Amino acid sequence: MPVNAARYHAELAWIGDRVARDVLIELADGEFTGITPGAPAPPDATRLAGLTLPGLANAHSHAFHRALRGRTHAGKGTFWTWRGQMYAVAARLTPESYLELATATYAEMALAGVTTVGEFHYLHHDPDGRPYADPNEMGAALVEAARLAGIRITLLDTCYLTSTVDGKPLDGAQRRFGDGDARRWAARVEGFAPAGRHARLGAAVHSVRAVPADQIPDVVEWAAARDAPLHVHLSEQRKENAACLAYHRRTPTELLADAGALDPRTTAVHATHLTDGDRTELGDTGTGTCLCPTTERDLADGAGPARALLDGGSPLSLGSDSHAVIDLFEEARAVEMHERLRSEQRGHFSAAELIRAATAAGHAACGWADAGAIAAGQRADLVTVRLDSPRTAGIDPAAAVYAATAADVTHVVCDGRPIVVDGRHVTIDVPTALRTAIGALW
Ligand SMILES: [Zn+2]
Repeated sequence: MPVNAARYHAELAWIGDRVARDVLIELADGEFTGITPGAPAPPDATRLAGLTLPGLANAHSHAFHRALRGRTHAGKGTFWTWRGQMYAVAARLTPESYLELATATYAEMALAGVTTVGEFHYLHHDPDGRPYADPNEMGAALVEAARLAGIRITLLDTCYLTSTVDGKPLDGAQRRFGDGDARRWAARVEGFAPAGRHARLGAAVHSVRAVPADQIPDVVEWAAARDAPLHVHLSEQRKENAACLAYHRRTPTELLADAGALDPRTTAVHATHLTDGDRTELGDTGTGTCLCPTTERDLADGAGPARALLDGGSPLSLGSDSHAVIDLFEEARAVEMHERLRSEQRGHFSAAELIRAATAAGHAACGWADAGAIAAGQRADLVTVRLDSPRTAGIDPAAAVYAATAADVTHVVCDGRPIVVDGRHVTIDVPTALRTAIGALW
């Protein structure tokens, strides 16, 4: 066998939108070289009991929000009161403590079967808003954290310039986010070459609240020139829509369309409160939508028109965003369940559509077109889900997305390397790492 070659034999594997049995999976140098269903198990193959899926993509993450889990969920309030607590944590992080927290968070993602994270990164500068000696030190810490956790990262370096739609300056903890203007944002990002083949660079417009309309095209041009993914928070909150309509006389979607920001390389995150025209615009331009259902319900955002977006031509991907939960199975089935709550009807998405959102579509949204399927030539990512846990025993494997949880993931391979074996991360004690990193911040 060639160098770095390996063979797995999956009891069941998700191949081309359905479950195949007794699948011999061969890989070399981080790529699948052969996929053979109905094959006997060779003695040298690693046996994967249960259902083996392609790698999962978590297309929308703010790694530091993991420190808020279980600390901001009680009590009353809105998205805006939660944001105040989130800023308090943002104010405390250093490059060292962020490396520690992000490593633990990405290792939790690895345990949940995530092989790519789309990190929507805006915590750029020191607490007074001054660049570090290396102005990309925080981004470099996130790239290193992904390497330590064994997963790929698309660092979506986020342009964040103002605190309101009408251009009020950044204040308090927000000062860490700002580069002054879009050209200085681009100059900083241009100086960043992420270390490692597990990392790629993308861009983000934080929102229409945080980037003035006349500066959005600079970010769009930067991403277009590099064929890099561009992400943007869109219409998560009605208040943002109202402010945008009042100031610009356009919806956030219309504003982004006028700035040239909508196309198949772009992913709109949330897309919760859309007009019919907004929804049509996203679909007609092939702009993707990243839904973050567990965060959207935690923050009382609402639920976007997921089925109509997909039908209109907007591919759906998934993100755990605030990390109140890191479980892509929960995100995937929530897309269906929230549609049921909206429509009072059952059965909107097939299991294959939900798995595509969690795998291939998420990877594509993060710029990894060669990941998210178990097929020859694709990146060798495997996520095995046990079918003998209290949650999964007795289920129809084809419907595992409706029953499995992150805790049922037993084996994860990313780019050909095992990163989770028998339900444990191969190098990181994840609960201890999380407890230590988060404990230091409170
Ligand atoms: Zn977000």
